[in-house]
Amino acid sequence: MRAEVIAIGDELTTGQRLDTNSQWLSQRLTEMGIPVAFHTTIGDEIDDNVAAFRAAIARAEVVVVTGGLGPTADDLTREALAAATNSKLVRDEPSLKHIRQLFESRGYEMPSRNVVQADFPEGSKPIPNPHGTAPGIEMHIPRSEPNPCLLFALPGVPAEMFEMWEASVAPRIARLQPEPRVIRHRRIKCFGVGESQLEAMLPDLFRRDREPRVGITVSDATITLRITAGGKDEASCFSAMEPTVSTIRELLGTLVYGEEDDELEDVVQRALHQQGLSIAVAEWATEGLVGKWLERASRDTEVFLKGNVVDCVSAIPSLTHSPEPHSVDVAIALAEGIRQATSADIGLGIAAYPPGEHDAESHVCLALAMPDQTRKLRLRCASHPSILRTRTAKQAINALRLALISES
Ligand code: AMP
Ligand code: MG
Repeated sequence: MRAEVIAIGDELTTGQRLDTNSQWLSQRLTEMGIPVAFHTTIGDEIDDNVAAFRAAIARAEVVVVTGGLGPTADDLTREALAAATNSKLVRDEPSLKHIRQLFESRGYEMPSRNVVQADFPEGSKPIPNPHGTAPGIEMHIPRSEPNPCLLFALPGVPAEMFEMWEASVAPRIARLQPEPRVIRHRRIKCFGVGESQLEAMLPDLFRRDREPRVGITVSDATITLRITAGGKDEASCFSAMEPTVSTIRELLGTLVYGEEDDELEDVVQRALHQQGLSIAVAEWATEGLVGKWLERASRDTEVFLKGNVVDCVSAIPSLTHSPEPHSVDVAIALAEGIRQATSADIGLGIAAYPPGEHDAESHVCLALAMPDQTRKLRLRCASHPSILRTRTAKQAINALRLALISES
């Protein structure tokens, strides 16, 4: 069984409003064990709506539509559904009564235009909308496929849609499943290689017919492996995913830094806390980004983040005469200087970016002054200019993470 989610409205196709309904509905359907195969977004055009409904009915057993159920001329869902299923629109008196009462309870007379909200394609069922004038529509549509298509049309207003989903639609869809089923995800977070390199390290894991399924996404140089499994309950999904997670961890080693919502700084913060170490940061190139992230990740900032310096020249007097602010010597002076000035256990120093174009040949220097030694590192500057600083900051935190792992 698979589902399609359709969002309707010019405000969506013109980019004026983000389609959050489809995201929310897809999360709910997936939790119930029904994979969503298609998202369709359409403007307020009758022919486009009819064509989209026909396509969805032909390819999905469950179709959930939001939007287009209002009383105005651009609300076309009722008409389009009738056309797509070759049925007439018929008025439902109990729905009309509900709409009229809703207006009366708010102290208004029902405008004549709202009458159309009580019109339904023949053979469909109204879905009650306790707090709005637009009832939803439930349709059971026979197809040439063995299973019919079950279609639900709900209002676009998110609060009304949520309420109707919980009260009427979710229980109806649950009854389609011969036995309860859920789908669950796990996310493994990696840093340190490109996505194609990482894929090559995990042969076979990304096969589309594999169970559990593994997907890969990249955001600002952080790679997320998303594992998806279906089963009779949450526990069976998680135990089905466990061997895949172990394989990934085994093959990727320290490239894996965390799971779920973990950021690199969260992991570093936990390691510092566990090892009882404090840190201070002097950042020339990254302008305070590393310190800001560590501060955000920390529960007790004062204890472990002893300083975060951006104005490096004033903070480390020995730098005043440095001719090359991007050199490794400057990174070392920053790391050792900030460590000494704050009495932190670890000093992290990031030198300035080298002048000129940043490409695969260009490097920024970093140093970690640890209790027993100072480590130095050259990080490549090759990345899109808009994420260069973020990437450098992540690389620096990652170097700190790897140092903490090897220390422990
Ligand atoms: P409608 O049911 O088409 O009259 O939509 C009513 C209102 O709900 C719209 O003006 C939007 O503000 C909101 N809305 C409609 N569709 C969506 C959607 N897919 N995601 C988020 N909000 C929506
Ligand atoms: Mg609309």
